[in-house]
Amino acid sequence: MTPTISKAIFVALAIGWYLIRYKYARRSRREKIVWSARGPVETALLLISLTGLGLVPLLYVATAIPRFAAYSFHPLFAWLGLFFAIAALGMFHLTHRALGRNWSISLDVREKHELVTEGIYRRVRHPMYSAFWLWAIAQALLLPNWIAGFAGLTGFGILYFGRVAREERMMLETFGDSYRAYMARTGRVFPPVL
Ligand code: SAH
Repeated sequence: MTPTISKAIFVALAIGWYLIRYKYARRSRREKIVWSARGPVETALLLISLTGLGLVPLLYVATAIPRFAAYSFHPLFAWLGLFFAIAALGMFHLTHRALGRNWSISLDVREKHELVTEGIYRRVRHPMYSAFWLWAIAQALLLPNWIAGFAGLTGFGILYFGRVAREERMMLETFGDSYRAYMARTGRVFPPVL
């Protein structure tokens, strides 16, 4: 394991994620939206997250900027990073497949929106956010740079904490008691401890 391979794994993670979501993003354009939380807050949160998980680390991979924040590379961290990256891609695959036409980049309720509560959604309400946390951890382990490595945890953390309660309120308003019951038997990003 070398620093170059470690950076390549991060790039592969970003490309893998893009390829997984591409089909759903295209398909979702055809699905009519009946209610949406889109607006300046959502746009700002999405841009912050994109910057932290994508723009900052990819700039670092391409140019080593910001150089002052570099620290020495440890192969063990990179191996762990590979493990988290594979786990993240596996979770992205399962969550996109399970959400299907109900997927959105933002918070939208689609016409004939179906509440998904099975498969990867059985014990966890936000497994796609779990996958982004795994990405952010992989990024911190793969990129030996204090800023580029930790930008993902910061950027996605802002999106996550700025969004998840509003998303659950939206789901409660749309699905009422079914979502309430679903909340009672699931955890947000981890399965509930028995
Ligand atoms: N928070 C989820 C989904 C992220 S995608 C996760 O982390 O896995 C965001 C879109 O998914 C929102 O527009 C919301 O309407 C939809 N959504 C969230 N949870 C859902 C569920 N259990 N079933 C169907 N759609 C869901």
